[in-house]
Amino acid sequence: MAYRIGLGVDFHKLEENREFWLGGVKIPHYKGAIGQSDADVLLHAICDALLGALCLGDIGEHFPDTDMSYKNIDSKILLRKTYQLIKTAGYSVVNIDSTICLELPKIKPYVSAMQKVISGILEVTEKDISIKATTTEKMGFAGREEGLMAHASVLLIRKND
Ligand SMILES: [Zn+2]
Repeated sequence: MAYRIGLGVDFHKLEENREFWLGGVKIPHYKGAIGQSDADVLLHAICDALLGALCLGDIGEHFPDTDMSYKNIDSKILLRKTYQLIKTAGYSVVNIDSTICLELPKIKPYVSAMQKVISGILEVTEKDISIKATTTEKMGFAGREEGLMAHASVLLIRKND
């Protein structure tokens, strides 16, 4: 089978006085996501989409939050490790589409920096990494700025060997 599709979804809580990392980029904001790692919701959704495409389980199995070596870890390291699994299985990334659901901050000014970081790790061009954002019209946990969510879809292709 030449192509495989994957889907990833992730959620994190937002709290004050915490660094806000999104798409591998540090964004100035009065709140940041909390979690065992740097809580980068977009990179986690992408990791899950990559793993899902090859039926390799999920990010929690590969990088358990009970493992203290992942405490405050840069999620770019998790994405690199996940991509290694994909490469080892003989696949490469075609493209990724993603949407982040959050009320604030506006992420548009940071999208090209995120595309650069993610495309660099996954060995594709910036145009292969789509990053969109939406609010929830002030509804629910995202609308109340209690948390945020990211969805990612990925298409993989088997490398010629
Ligand atoms: Zn996460």
